[in-house]
Amino acid sequence: MKIAVIGTGYVGLVSGTCFAEMGNHVTCIDINTAKIESLNQGVLTLYEPGLDTIFNRNRDQGRLTFTDVLANGIKDASVIFLALPTPQGADGGADLTAVLSVAEELGSLIQSYTLIVNKSTVPVGTAQKVSSVLSNNLDSSLFDVVANPEFLREGAAIQDFLKPERIVIGTSSETAKAIMKELYEPFVRQGNPILVMDEISAELTKYAANAYLATKITFMNEIANISELVGANVDSVRKALGTDSRIGKRFLFPGVGFGGSCFPKDVQALKHTSEGVNYDFKILNAVIEVNDKQRLKVYDKLKSHFNGNLSGKRIALWGLSFKPNTDDIREAPSLYTIDALLADDATLIVYDPESINNIRAIYKDKIEYADNPYTALKDVDALGILTEWSVFRTPEYSKMKSLMASTVIVDGRNVLDPQHMLNLGFTYYSIGRP
Ligand code: NAD
Repeated sequence: MKIAVIGTGYVGLVSGTCFAEMGNHVTCIDINTAKIESLNQGVLTLYEPGLDTIFNRNRDQGRLTFTDVLANGIKDASVIFLALPTPQGADGGADLTAVLSVAEELGSLIQSYTLIVNKSTVPVGTAQKVSSVLSNNLDSSLFDVVANPEFLREGAAIQDFLKPERIVIGTSSETAKAIMKELYEPFVRQGNPILVMDEISAELTKYAANAYLATKITFMNEIANISELVGANVDSVRKALGTDSRIGKRFLFPGVGFGGSCFPKDVQALKHTSEGVNYDFKILNAVIEVNDKQRLKVYDKLKSHFNGNLSGKRIALWGLSFKPNTDDIREAPSLYTIDALLADDATLIVYDPESINNIRAIYKDKIEYADNPYTALKDVDALGILTEWSVFRTPEYSKMKSLMASTVIVDGRNVLDPQHMLNLGFTYYSIGRP
């Protein structure tokens, strides 16, 4: 098929590349001209494991192209995906400006029957809104709008996209359903389901999934917090809990809270949707409140270790992206931690394997940047760990000890072993473990 993907960020670039990998001809479109120039020169604009190989292959074979001109990009496309940002608006709800303005433009560009597929995470009723905006300039027989929420995880996006656990398609049009099935069949050869439903249910499914996962993380963070108060070890509780097949092992690791470009805004957006229909979705309020506190746990523990005075303390931070294997720092707990430490006049030196340039763009010369984990440790009073990158799991302890002025570690992701740290003579704090 000939496909256009509008919005070439984490979702759009991965989707476009993976559709090309299945033999489709894909044009990715973005208003960010610098991004398009870079991609046209073969330089990726974000870090995602495995993306480079299929990006290069499909570009080389002419199936993947990039443009910043919407009219050129959608020419001949029978399916147009919207992978546009839907950030949190001032009222907590999702801001649909990008989605609706692109829909308006498409209405006056489309000339023959085209499927408009929304991959952005959008509130219930958006497919209907997009349809009515398109209808301003386009005959309704020339398009269908499909809700097709995306479930890929940054850091594992290629695998998730090429072998999705399920595809959700929201449409009431038989033509749209047939085209979507044809497009996605090659991705589900192992038998994972393509679930077809109405548009509103598809839109709600995405929020339900993200809100559930955010709740699961938050629940374990609360178990960790209570573990600290009653003297339990959350690791033991977690392992036993995870053996229950009704609960499952995943998403049970406590830490410094969830971040990223999805969970925080999607929980807020679902709360906003609920308020709009006079439903008091109580769990969401608790999730937001607990997470706001949880993401400052490393800061809180550092402050308490230094008896409330962090002024002049030199602190290293390892891990800045909101999770490992991505360079994405949107809503990362590191941002809140850095802000709080700077407000207390601490001196910071930070390290991350992939996201350091994104952090530098925000903090500039307010903090120092290290190019490896160990240079970050020179003469520091303490180390905080904020992201569970694999490289932090088995560090060179003797090197750490020789570099740090005082061997205090606050491990916000429980990547190190408390007993081992004690044996080595570190002063070690983690989340929910003695
Ligand atoms: P992103 O910010 O990485 O990418 C969005 C891209 O759209 C940017 O490159 C931006 O320049 C471009 N853009 C903005 N306005 C435009 C316009 N008018 N015309 C053309 N391009 C425009 O965002 P993302 O992380 O890819 O997320 C996109 C959507 O997918 C959001 O709704 C998000 O909630 C959802 N989603 C994200 C993930 C994820 O892991 N990142 C997973 C599932 C769903």
